[in-house]
Amino acid sequence: MKDDILNAIETRLGLSRRSFMQFCAAMAGTMGLPSGAEAEIAKAIASPKRPPVIWLHFQECTGCTESLLRADHPTLDKLILEIISLDYHESLFAAAGHQAEAARKASMAANKGKYILVVEGAIPVKDGGIYCKIGGQTALDMVKECAADAAAVVAIGSCASWGGMPSTSPNPTGSTGVNEIIKDKPVVTIPGCPPNPYNLLSTVVHFLTFGKLPDLDEKGRPKFAYGRIVHENCERRAHFDAGRFAQEFGDEGHRKGFCLYKLGCKGPETYANCPSILFGDVGSGSWPVGTGHPCIGCTEQGIGFQKPIHALAEPKYVVPPVSYPRITEDQGQGMTTGSAALIAGVAGLAAGAGLALGRNLGKSDDQSSGKE
Ligand code: SF4
Repeated sequence: MKDDILNAIETRLGLSRRSFMQFCAAMAGTMGLPSGAEAEIAKAIASPKRPPVIWLHFQECTGCTESLLRADHPTLDKLILEIISLDYHESLFAAAGHQAEAARKASMAANKGKYILVVEGAIPVKDGGIYCKIGGQTALDMVKECAADAAAVVAIGSCASWGGMPSTSPNPTGSTGVNEIIKDKPVVTIPGCPPNPYNLLSTVVHFLTFGKLPDLDEKGRPKFAYGRIVHENCERRAHFDAGRFAQEFGDEGHRKGFCLYKLGCKGPETYANCPSILFGDVGSGSWPVGTGHPCIGCTEQGIGFQKPIHALAEPKYVVPPVSYPRITEDQGQGMTTGSAALIAGVAGLAAGAGLALGRNLGKSDDQSSGKE
């Protein structure tokens, strides 16, 4: 890149050119883009033209915004606020009342078809949506109005993605996610409670660089961030496979870093990249599961806020080899690793490996081999 462009970036973002290029390479890596993509990303970010963003807040706790701006991320919040033009954001806006609403409408009119709509929070649809109003307008009407001329719609956090906490049974206000309301264009969902701000940033950077959204899964989640279950990349996975589990908080297994499955870890049924990029801000080189707290499945519809925290996860497809102890057996009362291997071997010879595998978690051969 030319020196004058890099100099401008140093001034604008407060980043050295080396840090900036490292950031671009990290973004490209996070999104699984081929070599050379970092230069395209750098060019797009370097452009002084920033895409306008309208950021709406509905039924939520503002944790998504907090996560984005928290003090641990000085570089990230700087980048977010310098890469985009945040034209409307109720928590960060200096304007208030009618002035704020006028600014939103002015930005939408001036940037018709070009702005990115980010929605934080669930939308209540019961009784005509009267349970959440801003400036006298229901959240339901506002999201429809803002989405109509948006170039892209992003639902940030679990509440906006599928209802999250406000939609917990009995869901008295009929809380729901954006993609249940906006049907005429794709809605990118970035679930999490809070969501990983790097996933939002990567999505925006992808849109900026290539003029289109990243590949999405059937729930609207960017595949680069939600393509794998937490369990696949967890550093405790070897303990899971070997049948070494913490049985209760603070016991010997917990102190030794054993697997948290029996404490209710939802990693085996939750898609997210938390372990890959150590999301959670619990200190350098770690993340919540790394420090001893089971994953609560906050990114997964039907799991986070719905399945009891200590209920056992249903492993999606990654299960221990048949020769290891069954994970449903209490430690100390079941087989040892050695005896399990011996029995599985004998069972394999006598009755076929399929029998042992069938007993193991009740999963099929297909699931064990990695197929859904
Ligand atoms: S069950 Fe949880 S703690 Fe255990 S390996 Fe899987 S993700 Fe990690």
